[in-house]
Amino acid sequence: MSNKDALAGKKMATKFIHAGAEPDPSTGAIMTPIYQTSTYVQSSPGDHKGYEYARSQNPTRAALETALAVIENGKYGLAFSSGVAATDAVIKLLNSGDEVVAGNDLYGGTYRLFTKVFERFGIKFTYVDSTNTDKVKAAITSKTKLIWIETPTNPLMNITDIAAVAAIAKKAGVLLCVDNTFATPYLQNPLDLGADIVMHSSTKYLGGHSDVIQGALIMNDHDLRERLYFIQKSCGAVPGPMDCFLVLRGIKTLHVRMRQHCDNGFVIAQFLRNHPKVDRVYWCGFKDHPNYEIAKTQMRGFGGMMSFTLKDDSVEASVKVLSSTKLFSLAESLGGVESLINHPASMTHASIPREERIKNGLTDGLIRLSVGIEDADDLVEDLKQALG
Ligand SMILES: *Cc1c(COP(=O)(O)O)cnc(C)c1O
Repeated sequence: MSNKDALAGKKMATKFIHAGAEPDPSTGAIMTPIYQTSTYVQSSPGDHKGYEYARSQNPTRAALETALAVIENGKYGLAFSSGVAATDAVIKLLNSGDEVVAGNDLYGGTYRLFTKVFERFGIKFTYVDSTNTDKVKAAITSKTKLIWIETPTNPLMNITDIAAVAAIAKKAGVLLCVDNTFATPYLQNPLDLGADIVMHSSTKYLGGHSDVIQGALIMNDHDLRERLYFIQKSCGAVPGPMDCFLVLRGIKTLHVRMRQHCDNGFVIAQFLRNHPKVDRVYWCGFKDHPNYEIAKTQMRGFGGMMSFTLKDDSVEASVKVLSSTKLFSLAESLGGVESLINHPASMTHASIPREERIKNGLTDGLIRLSVGIEDADDLVEDLKQALG
């Protein structure tokens, strides 16, 4: 019986710890070895153990790919050298002339890949407010092949109804891919809600320790898996075995870390909301968040990502806060154990034109937090002194 079958029906914490982990057949090592090899010896041509060349197959990567499938309740997982490499593979399913309907509040690097790279190859992207599913439906044409959404979005924490968009996609005969980086499988499983592909920047919560760049795709359909595997090995954006080991190890504590991210996120969101210098707080756990009901239905918690604006919405006022925190480090990225503070307009989302950004609510002064798992009181104190 494979590890995957043995874990079917088990609870989340058990799955996260044991997913993909089997004792090493030659030594019994409990941790998956880092198979640092480029090739595999064959006894006669074609007589091998399923491993020929490490761009196509690697045992450490195979263990991780099993784990990815298990944690997202999917059949197949594929690991890539970065989150954008995983996104790149999905778009390469399409042909010139095909169209994609995408959310209008995407990770900056996803938007850059779509507009600056794939538009040159004749793929058309239509951006809509995906929180309004009627707009998603209205944007679909006879050429649409894929719907791409991110929920919650980065950095404005908007929520799209995955099941509703999946129903639209199914009816239209197009694929739905959901970027699940922010929610993680601890909070949300898009495949269970009808999505065809789940994408992750494993760099963030799956890895969880700010020490690796990696991406993932998870799916149920065998043919789709074969097409994406062909792209993975043909285009070659595969992660190295050491990085696969790190993500495998990260996944083992995902549930414990996420529980604390959620608890700390709750505390920080309330603190910011009650602070006299803070104007708006974007966090999907507030009952008056415009998509709260959907968030509550499709997510098991609200996480540690949030953004806020100051009443003084000047860049100077924001920069003062951004450079005054001591525990929150000013840096791009998110999802690690340590708290980070970020200025989307000049950092993670600088590749989105200013008019586009502002139109979608991403103002010049917006501040994003990735609340880590330090002591919540210390994090509050740090923000208190930085806000002055
Ligand atoms: C970081 C991120 C990506 C891109 O992933 P990389 O690992 O940096 O290539 C995609 N989507 C979201 C939501 C992200 O936060």
